[in-house]
Amino acid sequence: MKAFEATRTFFEIAADKLEMEPEIREALLMPNREIQVQVTVERDNGQLVNFVGFRVQHDHFRGPMKGGLRYHPKVDLDEVRALASLMTWKTAVVDLPYGGAKGGIGVDPSTLSEGETERLTRAFVDQIHEIVGPDKDIPGPDMGTDHRVMAWFRNQWEKYHGFNPSVITGKPVEEYGAKGREEATGRGVGALTCKLLKRLGYQTSGTKIAIQGFGNVGTHAAKFLDEAQFPIVAVSDVSGTYYRESGLDVRSLLRHKIEHPRGLLEGFKDCDCLPPNALLGLEDIQVLIPAAVGGVITEANVDQIKAEVIVEGANGPIYPLADAKLRDRGVVVLPDILANAGGVTVSYFEWVQNRQYYRWSLDRVRQELDHTMSEAFENVWQTANEMDVSLRTAAYMIGITRVRRAGEFAGFA
Ligand code: NAD
Repeated sequence: MKAFEATRTFFEIAADKLEMEPEIREALLMPNREIQVQVTVERDNGQLVNFVGFRVQHDHFRGPMKGGLRYHPKVDLDEVRALASLMTWKTAVVDLPYGGAKGGIGVDPSTLSEGETERLTRAFVDQIHEIVGPDKDIPGPDMGTDHRVMAWFRNQWEKYHGFNPSVITGKPVEEYGAKGREEATGRGVGALTCKLLKRLGYQTSGTKIAIQGFGNVGTHAAKFLDEAQFPIVAVSDVSGTYYRESGLDVRSLLRHKIEHPRGLLEGFKDCDCLPPNALLGLEDIQVLIPAAVGGVITEANVDQIKAEVIVEGANGPIYPLADAKLRDRGVVVLPDILANAGGVTVSYFEWVQNRQYYRWSLDRVRQELDHTMSEAFENVWQTANEMDVSLRTAAYMIGITRVRRAGEFAGFA
């Protein structure tokens, strides 16, 4: 199944519940604009290489469009389109005044030097600078991009349009970035996991958690949940699954990651080392947090999943048929468009600060993040109970209804 088809299926389930007319569904689903560009870069050895870049602007009814920029070899138009639509529903669920967009380049960033990555980013901005801007479409970081890429992007965009740091978020803190942006997605995942588990009656001791992916989202979620006293019994990255029945030492894992090449956990001692995919099928865990890539839980492997609760840190980790099977088995899934919305929420705070030439303290960022995420969680929880639907369908119903309402005020133009 393709990524956009999966997102579309979740949308249709919610639209059926809302008894939405076919023409409104089409208006909400169809991307506003899709752009594909050639990005040519000179390698350090003087050789020219070409890559394909994308920007999909899905919906603008609720405000300027917002969405990350991904550098990954698997980036294609279908994936970017799916991720752009997820951003539309996500910003609506947490009630940010934004629409949804996404962009990316089909490239393996680990094969590029720092200089090549900078030239790639600047060449991409040369191609798309006219369609992005603080009141149009605001990119941010995603897989394979970081604060340095955001700083190059801003600098190149300002060469055309003049000073305006709010054109992009996820910038370095000393370059108009927001304190707390880097931790925001993982912190939000951790905070909502705690909230959900409390609501479901789980205690901290004895509730074992496994996290797939130990990058930005996985590490910060692990840190938050470890501090909340939950045993993190397994984490994985591309090098393997690291498992310890009595709970891993999360601080040592974080230190190992910093001290080792490419930030991998390879060679981590004091635990069993299993293949990367072993994490999904672990027997004795209650909570699974997929926080790596999309499409990891499908019809083919869903029967291996033993967790009772799944919190989607990654975008689109569960495909629809697997999602239906999990629901039939009583597994509670907290969906991506709510669970990982902490990143875009703090990106919004960064944009607000930039526009006001004002800086918030880390405490204020965390407080406002907790407030926004908690309110969205309560709303989704209540809707799910009232309408007798899954948390995912409830989240989509809320997001779709808000976007539809804004579309109607705009005459869908
Ligand atoms: P990242 O590149 O920092 O980390 C990804 C991690 O996943 C790495 O540890 C990598 O080794 C691991 N990984 C990749 N494939 C794997 C596999 N098959 N098995 C096990 N581990 C694997 O990326 P990130 O920023 O943490 O993003 C992770 C996911 O969260 C993505 O789906 C992204 O779209 C989503 N997300 C990220 C943010 C954000 O602010 N960073 C916000 C919202 C959603």
